[in-house]
Amino acid sequence: MDFRSDTVTRPTESMRAVMAAAPVGDDVYRDDPSVAELERYAADLTGTEAALFACSGTMGNLLALLVHGRRGESVLLGAQSHIYHYEVGGLSALAGLLPYALDDESGLPEVASLAGAVRGRDNVHFAPTSLLCLENTHNRAGGVAVSPKALGAVAEEGHCLGLKVHLDGARLFNACAAFGVEAREYVRFVDSVQLCLSKGLGAPMGSVLCGPRGFVEEARHWRKCIGGGLRQAGVVASAGLMALRDMRSRLAEDHENAALLARLLSEGGLAVEPCGVRTNMVYFRLSGTGVSEGAFQKRCEERGLQLGVAGPERIRMVTHLDVSRQDVEAAARIVLETVACP
Ligand SMILES: *Cc1c(COP(=O)(O)O)cnc(C)c1O
Repeated sequence: MDFRSDTVTRPTESMRAVMAAAPVGDDVYRDDPSVAELERYAADLTGTEAALFACSGTMGNLLALLVHGRRGESVLLGAQSHIYHYEVGGLSALAGLLPYALDDESGLPEVASLAGAVRGRDNVHFAPTSLLCLENTHNRAGGVAVSPKALGAVAEEGHCLGLKVHLDGARLFNACAAFGVEAREYVRFVDSVQLCLSKGLGAPMGSVLCGPRGFVEEARHWRKCIGGGLRQAGVVASAGLMALRDMRSRLAEDHENAALLARLLSEGGLAVEPCGVRTNMVYFRLSGTGVSEGAFQKRCEERGLQLGVAGPERIRMVTHLDVSRQDVEAAARIVLETVACP
């Protein structure tokens, strides 16, 4: 049983059949009908003018940074955000941007924290701020989903301060499922959004970056520059389209499983981290159990359960397409046994 991430899902037989049958062409020449269909569908779904297929979520976010910011400018983002923690410093290494990190433990930075963090062009010492990045659902904050209203308030403040706003929506559809809203109800507040196809939606790879037509054309230019111009990409884009069309409705099941897991673990006495609006993740602490995260992970693996270490004494478990309710019950038993006798 693999609870490390929702990225571990494998394409279903029917997804493989769709991939095998997909009409394809050279997408650098914009000849791939399956890529074009995915991009059109993603744009419609998010209420944006256009969309671009990218190899990964990291690439989609990097393209947004490259388009919205210029070298030597600065970007406001969450101190716990994926872009800051897990994207290899691409924002500085490749986009030339200086990050200013804001407290986002709750899933969003406080509206009031933005104004003081923005650097203007009026002072010659500063790296002027051009961009604000938000994340929903928020991975390191526990997979928490924030509402359109809460996200909109922060995005609007960003706009008032003259910033572009990019949403890392790797798991935006989990937030949509949690609040029972359409993606466009979030996306209307931001200038661009990145959506992962290969997480809970179950595609083998890819992400889409959505926004205004001019933005997407610039992102296409940068995508080629960083080696992301693919040829017969319809082979994988077709799986992404199927994921986007058919798999959104099943995310609620992952959320029920995560809620069950959180309940079973906390009833068993573990320090499960509280989460405002939980989606498909459960974080818990090993503090006080006398077992280190490395040893715990190894013992669980020997008992047939894979899970993730998210920091010192901090463990993450993620529910997804390939874990059932029975798996959740079995996994909870293994975790509790392992804590009791490591
Ligand atoms: C997974 C993830 C990404 C990046 O996706 P990759 O496809 O792994 O590059 C970006 N942001 C968040 C919040 C993620 O969870």
